[in-house]
Amino acid sequence: MEKTTIQEILDYFKLTENHSGASTGIKWEPGEGSIIVSKSPINSQLLGSVHSCTESQYEKLAEQALLAFGHWRGLPAPKRGEIIRQIGLGLRESKEMLGRLVSHEMGKPLQEGLGEVQEMIDICDFAVGLSRQLYGKTMPSERPQHQIMEQWHPLGPVGIISAFNFPVAVWSWNAMIAWVCGNVCIWKPSEKTPLSAIACQKIIAKILKENKLPEGISSLIIGDKTLGERLAKDKRIPLISATGSTKMGKAVAQHIGERLGKCILELGGNNAIVISNKANLDLAIRAAVFGAVGTAGQRCTSTRRLIIQRDVVEEVKERLKGAYAQLKVGDPLDENNHIGPLIDQEAAKQFESAIQKIKELGGREVIAGSILEGEGYESGCYVHPGVYELDPSAEIMKEETFAPLLYLIPYETLEEAIALHNNVPQGLSSAIMTQDVSEAHLFLSAIGSDCGIANVNIGTSGAEIGGAFGGEKETGGGRESGSDSWKAYMRRQTNTINFGQTLPLAQGIKFDL
Ligand code: NAD
Repeated sequence: MEKTTIQEILDYFKLTENHSGASTGIKWEPGEGSIIVSKSPINSQLLGSVHSCTESQYEKLAEQALLAFGHWRGLPAPKRGEIIRQIGLGLRESKEMLGRLVSHEMGKPLQEGLGEVQEMIDICDFAVGLSRQLYGKTMPSERPQHQIMEQWHPLGPVGIISAFNFPVAVWSWNAMIAWVCGNVCIWKPSEKTPLSAIACQKIIAKILKENKLPEGISSLIIGDKTLGERLAKDKRIPLISATGSTKMGKAVAQHIGERLGKCILELGGNNAIVISNKANLDLAIRAAVFGAVGTAGQRCTSTRRLIIQRDVVEEVKERLKGAYAQLKVGDPLDENNHIGPLIDQEAAKQFESAIQKIKELGGREVIAGSILEGEGYESGCYVHPGVYELDPSAEIMKEETFAPLLYLIPYETLEEAIALHNNVPQGLSSAIMTQDVSEAHLFLSAIGSDCGIANVNIGTSGAEIGGAFGGEKETGGGRESGSDSWKAYMRRQTNTINFGQTLPLAQGIKFDL
């Protein structure tokens, strides 16, 4: 498998030129819409082209999804779980090919491309177990011979809007849970990674076909933000789960709010690690470097700020310099490299202009970030990661630059560190590196980190599917994946049953006729 060529991968998934970008599950609509081109950021190679989904195709797909919902919600949840078990097997079979395709199209290291598919397999397994655990509560009634219980019912077609940086895993977090809950799904992937989405659809199609399931359970619509807006505005779609920038989330939330729909928002982060003077610095440096440069700093959970106790600032700086000097930037399919390209030249330019701004604001360079040029870097998407010291009140430090850019901020007391930590608009992931149990617990307490994820002695990125994933403030407040995140994909129904022959009213109210 080591020498699998991109052509072999494209052939494996039958990714033909000008592929249709609209599917109801097994069938593909004829290619009619404008063409979206997929180019690898690794070497600018043209990987393929896709017709975007047209308005009339969207209409047809949405109607088909509503019809399919009528069928799918009627299947017992464990039977739906059985379909997801088979999807998990399909993903296992195609793991290598899909992981490689993700790496070629998005530019992440092969290990991470494969890791992303493994995460999809893990969520399938989780969803299979969940199919027998969609528990409601029972509660005592104040009225004699009455019983109160809760049931969870599916919502309808769930719209999934996903970002380029996790082209396939984020969809699966949503789709597998939404399906097991009895919903059908309409997926609008990032227009920057259309082929990875088509490949997923083909894996699913095989299982839908083998199980003679109707069209409309798994729909795919490829297009730009206009299509995302169309989905967000559609009253027939009770829930939209949207992953991407805070700018996108604010726009989508307005459309959904207008129609009083539900949403799960998974938006930008601005994640920090607090490094105490009581930290094991070996762990701290490894966590910081992986968090800052892994996936070329293009994870929502990437480490963007290091808040360091003054006593250890100099040592941390020196160790960071040592670690960064060993980093190899290059072809992400070569396992000797740590960092691949950014998604496109635009992202590289944004990285460069952020550095320019830091300098204008009087920031001090610890490790110079720059766009790389020359052999192997011809695509213009490769950058050397940068580390800077900057006053934490600078506006740019409150923004998410989606690239390997790390800020260093010194602190005196842990209370000060927590205040600095929380003083950004985003609230996704956070970590403290300390061997002191009191410090660790303070950071995790109600007066500690204000993020959806708070870790001790591991970095900010690399979550497992078992926990609920998501963040607060401008990260959007949504939760996906494990724990009881499934509840967001269902509607709760409270049932009161009178098994007596009188009609007592609650709160002792009398109404005798
Ligand atoms: P993006 O916001 O540009 O696009 C994300 C998706 O939203 C794409 O499918 C895009 O077509 C669509 N979109 C954009 N504007 C829209 C609009 N107005 N209405 C409807 N749809 C719209 O984000 P990106 O550049 O693809 O991804 C990077 C961003 O995603 C970063 O901010 C990152 O932090 C965030 N992200 C967050 C999470 C999380 O779980 N919190 C996970 C992954 C990525």
